[in-house]
Amino acid sequence: TISVATILAESAHRYPDKTAVIWAGQTGPQSRATYAELWRDAKAIAGALKARGVGRGDRVAMLVPNVPDFPKVYYAVLAIGAVAVPIHLLFKKDEIAHVLRDSGAKLVVIGAPSLGEALPAAMEGGVDAVSVLLPEAAKDLAPIPRLEELAAAAEPIVRQEAMGPLEPATLLYTSGTTGTPKGAVGAHFSLVEQVNVSLIDLFDMRHDDVVFGGLPLFHTFGQTCVLNTAFRKGATIVMLPKFEPAAALTAMAEHGATVFTAVPTMYVGLLAGARAGAPKPQLRYAVSGGAPLPLAVLEEFSDVFGATVYEGYGLTETSPVVSFNPIGKEIRPGTIGVPIWGSDVLIADPEVDDRIVELPRGELGELVVRGHNLFKGYLGRPEANREAVVDGWFRTGDLATMGDDDYLTIVDRKKDMILRNGYNVYPTEVEGVMMRHPAVQAAAVFGTPHAKHGQEVEAAVVLKEGASATPEELRDFVKAKIAAYKFPRVVRIVDELPLGPSGKVLKRELTRVYTEEQQ
Ligand code: ATP
Repeated sequence: TISVATILAESAHRYPDKTAVIWAGQTGPQSRATYAELWRDAKAIAGALKARGVGRGDRVAMLVPNVPDFPKVYYAVLAIGAVAVPIHLLFKKDEIAHVLRDSGAKLVVIGAPSLGEALPAAMEGGVDAVSVLLPEAAKDLAPIPRLEELAAAAEPIVRQEAMGPLEPATLLYTSGTTGTPKGAVGAHFSLVEQVNVSLIDLFDMRHDDVVFGGLPLFHTFGQTCVLNTAFRKGATIVMLPKFEPAAALTAMAEHGATVFTAVPTMYVGLLAGARAGAPKPQLRYAVSGGAPLPLAVLEEFSDVFGATVYEGYGLTETSPVVSFNPIGKEIRPGTIGVPIWGSDVLIADPEVDDRIVELPRGELGELVVRGHNLFKGYLGRPEANREAVVDGWFRTGDLATMGDDDYLTIVDRKKDMILRNGYNVYPTEVEGVMMRHPAVQAAAVFGTPHAKHGQEVEAAVVLKEGASATPEELRDFVKAKIAAYKFPRVVRIVDELPLGPSGKVLKRELTRVYTEEQQ
C-alpha cells in the first residue's frame, strides 16, 4: 500500500519544527507553518471531511490559491482516501460548473471568490461546500461553513489511509489549452514514484533548499515538482498566491530562495523584473518545463541569475515528468533531455492512429510514452481514452525527434503546427528566432486561416519596457534568419499575450482573435 499523504506525514514526523511554507507578503500566524503544524491541521480537516460524509473514492474539488491552506486541504483529502480535484483558479463559472459536474464532486472547498455564480447550481445539484481562509473571499460566502471551524469541532484522524497503488489520488483537469477540459486520473503510486524519481535522479532538492512556490499548485507541475517534491525532502516553499515578477523576486530574495521551478513565461517575467531593478535571489539552480523555453531566455536567465537552467518535459497525463536534462550529466540546451527512470519513450508515426509504428532514430514523429508515470485515463471518456492510449502507449500530441544518444527535442505540438502552402511551419522554431531580437520580451507565433495559402503565419510580440521596434523590422529580422516559407507575414505588437491558468500562452486564443479581426 501507499499514499501521497505519506509525503507530509513522514516529513512532519522527521522534521516537525522545520518551516514547510512561507506565505509571501503576509504577516501574522497564517503566514508560515511548520511540517508538524500542517499535518496537525490536515488531520483535523480530514476529520471534518469525514464528519461531512466524505469517504474513500469521493471527489473533493478545491478552489484554493497557493497559500498554506492548499497543502492542508490537499493532504487531508488524500489522507482519507478521497480524490483531490484542484480547480484552475482562472476558470470561469461555466468551466467550474463543468469540473464539478464532470468529476461528480461530493464537496467543494472554496478559498477564492471566483466560484461565484457556479455555486448555487452546484449546491442544487447536491455538491456540499465549505470555505477556507481569505477573509475577503469568504465574505460573500457567509452561509457556507468555514472548514477551520468544522475542523476545530471534529475528531481528527490519527493517520492516513493505506491506499492500493492504483487507487486514484487526483483528478486534474487538463488546462484547456486545446479544448474542453478532461479529468486525468492520477494514481497514488504514480505520484509517489514521480516524487521519488524526481528527487533521486533529477532535482537534487535538498533539505535546506528554499523553493519558489509561484507555479500554480492546482496544476500537475506545481503539485508534483514543487509541493510534493519539496515536502518529501522537508524543504521550505515560499508560496505566492499570484505571480507578479517584482513581488516574486522580492519574496525570493527576502526568504533566500535557492530553487526556481517555473514555466517559461515566468522566466521572461523574472528577467523583466530584474531589468526594472527588483532584487535578485541567489539561486542554486532553476527548472523549466510546461512549454518550450527559448534559448535566448535560457541564456539570459543563466547570465542574470547565475543559475544553471534544467529543462524537462511532461504532461498532466504523465504525472508530469517524462524527460529531463540530467543533473550531473551533460546538459543540452534546446533539448528536453533524456527519458527519466522508468519512463519509456519512442517516436511513432503520427499518421498511423490505430497502432504504434516506431520511426527510425532522428526522424520527426509523435512522442509516445509508457511507464509508472502514466495516468489511469480520463474520467468517463472511453473514446478519448481509446485515442490517447494505443497498445499501452500514451500519445502526447507532441512532435519530437530522438537522437541515438536518447536526447529528445520537441519540435512542436501537432495541433500548433501551421500548414502554409503545403509547408509545415513549427511556431516554436520561429519564436526562438524572434526572441533573439534585443527588443523582444515575449513572442507567440500562430496560424490564421488564409484563402490562398491555407494558413498564414502570424506573430504577436511583447516588447521589453522602454524598447522600440516596428512590426516590419521584427518581420525582417526573422526573415533574414530562416527559410522564406516560415517567417511571420504579419507581426503584431501587443501589450501582453493571453495566458492560460498555468502560465502558458494560449495560441488558440490568438488564432481566434485575429481570425475574427480579419472577417
Ligand atoms: P491541454 O492538455 O488542455 O491541451 P496543456 O497541453 O497545456 O493543456 P499540460 O499537461 O499542462 O496541458 O501540458 C503538456 C504540454 O506542454 C505538452 O504536451 C507539451 O506540448 C508542452 N510542454 C511541456 N514541457 C515542454 C517543454 N519542455 N518543451 C516544449 N513543450 C513542452
